[in-house]
Amino acid sequence: MKRRNFLQKASLSTIGVVASASVVACNTDKEKNNSGRIVNSTSVKPIVIATWNVPNATAKAWEVLHNRGTSLDAVEQGCMIEEADVKNSSVGKGGLPDRDGNVTLDACIMDKDGNYGAVMCVQNIIHVISLARKVMEGTPHVILAGEGAEKFGYDLGFKKENLLTESSKKAWKKWKKTSDYKPIINIENHDTIGMLAIDINGDISGACTTSGLSYKMAGRVGDSPIIGSGLFIDNEVGGATATGMGEEVLKTVGSFLIVELMRQGKTPQEACEEAVRRVVKKSGDRYKDFQVGFIAINKQGETGAYCIHEWFSYTINKQGENKNYKSAYYNKA
Ligand code: ASP
Repeated sequence: MKRRNFLQKASLSTIGVVASASVVACNTDKEKNNSGRIVNSTSVKPIVIATWNVPNATAKAWEVLHNRGTSLDAVEQGCMIEEADVKNSSVGKGGLPDRDGNVTLDACIMDKDGNYGAVMCVQNIIHVISLARKVMEGTPHVILAGEGAEKFGYDLGFKKENLLTESSKKAWKKWKKTSDYKPIINIENHDTIGMLAIDINGDISGACTTSGLSYKMAGRVGDSPIIGSGLFIDNEVGGATATGMGEEVLKTVGSFLIVELMRQGKTPQEACEEAVRRVVKKSGDRYKDFQVGFIAINKQGETGAYCIHEWFSYTINKQGENKNYKSAYYNKA
């Protein structure tokens, strides 16, 4: 099933499943505030914002926040929902494999104190977001990769299991017939989850988890587990996270850029727009063939989102109510 179709179906099937989640599809909440600055109309805490239409994940995160949990617990537990969802083909179990048929996962997490943990190119462990947190809290390191990360996980009791589902295997076998690698990214095949939350104390944390580009080369790692690119948090200022073509996000260190732009006075919306313009500018004409999307939040709980092409969306949960918003986009093509 095409990702867009899946997302529409997912939003419908979610209504009634998650008591606190009422999904209203695709509003744009961009507006000007009193001083004429472009903001999104959200300034409530606690609050969680995530890339794509992930109402179950944001509902879980909000539940943690509502129960006075930390933003760190909220983003971890929210991301775990998508990692366990076999219908999400870009995250966790059910993620599409690399060109050799192996599912390899990347994840990172960052807390209010600027601590950071990441794992990359991990096979056989579903909850890589929790593994990233263990790297952050239980090792002298920041990133663990491949077999070392897996071994660390098994030593801690993480379960070893096959992440390749029958439907991902079928999709991979179909792809193998042509082995045509065209990483044209849009909503149909990418929905890495990046999540940012502010808790009741006003503290910000973020997390990002993905199976990366489908049919990528073995060993390929994108932006998602890389600090400053896939995710960045500065508790004094705000946070940002990315989805889309990781290679392009990495070249602009997009999430760090957005946080720095907010520090200099831009709203989250203005900062996301500037970051997308940088990605576009650096790419020459190539941006026509790839998608990049950013979301951001500032210390006041104002949010922003921007992408290159249409069809990127994001989900906000404040006061227990999920809303999925269609992101504003650049596409001048
Ligand atoms: N950014 C991810 C990566 O490049 C992919 C995605 O967002 O779908 O690995």
